[in-house]
This record gives sequence, structure tokens and C-alpha cells, in this order.
Amino acid sequence: MIILLALLLSGPQSGFFRWHSDTSVQVYFAPGFSTEQQAAALRGMQAWNVGGITFTRVGETIDIQKCKNCLTLQRGTSSSKKELAHLGVWHLVEYEWIEYAWIILDERTRSVEAIESFVTHETGHSLGLLDCDCKSVMGRFTGGLNKPGPLLTSGDRKAAMGNYR
Ligand SMILES: [Zn+2]
Repeated sequence: MIILLALLLSGPQSGFFRWHSDTSVQVYFAPGFSTEQQAAALRGMQAWNVGGITFTRVGETIDIQKCKNCLTLQRGTSSSKKELAHLGVWHLVEYEWIEYAWIILDERTRSVEAIESFVTHETGHSLGLLDCDCKSVMGRFTGGLNKPGPLLTSGDRKAAMGNYR
């Protein structure tokens, strides 16, 4: 019980995979994102600013880009109103470093505030953070359909920085 409580209080925990430090992530958008929505998604990624990792929009695409350090944003349909965004990654089994990744955003998510918030959360996963039951951008099932979750806190950034020491 005490251990569980400690976990709840200590903020986001770290998982296994993440982008390598000093990676310049190449961002692609599949159909279904307006210019404003693309800008909001990029703000969500760039908000972290840890490990020398940068996110740059390269262009548009139809399929998931399987190039090294590429990240594709796609639209999808979620069966659950509680899981409106999802991060998928491909990494070599023995290494934690991500080769390429994709974020699927539910197509009903139109609000730029919600897109920014959800992409910030999914980007946190790509920096090695797990969902938590805490007041954090990494809190699980926060926000809702077109309702943003919490903003990035200094605690979130500190947790992500811990993965890049
Ligand atoms: Zn999550």
C-alpha cells in the first residue's frame, strides 16, 4: 500500500522505449489535418524540449513513414471515447531507441487545444514516460472528445529529462 502511494505521488514513471538523445525527428502528416491542426500538433511535440530532441514538419504522406527518426500523424477511429490518441513505435528488440513512430488521432478530435494536449501526451510516451494516475500531462484518460487534458508541467519535463541524463 505504501509503495503504491509512493508511485501515485511521484509523477510520471519511465518505460522502455524512447527517441535517442539529440535526434532530429522528421514529422509527416497523413490526410485529415488542417494547417492549424498541424501547427497545434507540432506545438504539442515541441513543448517538451528535452534531450536535444527536435520535431520538424517535413511534409505530407499517405502511409506511415518507416524511415529512421520519422514520426507520422494519422487519423483513425477509436472505439473508446477514453482513448482518442495512440502512439505506435517500432524499435529493435534489444535497443530502447525508436526507429520510427506514429501517432493516431481520432478523427472526431477537431479542436486545436485538444490536439495539442493529446499530442503532448503521446510525445511524452516517445520520450520514455508512462501513463500515470497523477496530475500531469501523462495522466491516463484525461481530457475527452475535443476537451484538452492538463498542460505540461515542470514536473513532467523533469521526469522526461531524467531519461536523458
Ligand atoms: Zn498514454
